[in-house]
Amino acid sequence: MGETLVGMVKLVHYRVKCIGCNSCCEHAPEHWRINPEDGKAELIGSVEKNGVWIKEISDFDVAENEEAAKDCPVNIIKLQ
Ligand code: SF4
Repeated sequence: MGETLVGMVKLVHYRVKCIGCNSCCEHAPEHWRINPEDGKAELIGSVEKNGVWIKEISDFDVAENEEAAKDCPVNIIKLQ
């Protein structure tokens, strides 16, 4: 019998355009928090590349982040 493989999905935040509405933090508080310094969301545990913040999440965390992406008013959260 096969073992269960956990897939990984890339979660991407185009942070420069964030308006700090807090919606993503409400949907997925283990992944998002508001940075008190500039009032924008930050993707917890992500790495910045060319101004875009990226981290891999497991399949288990996809649903709540899909909700976060869907409700982001400036559409800057992507799952790839
Ligand atoms: S939902 Fe979008 S605009 Fe609102 S805090 Fe999160 S990333 Fe920023």
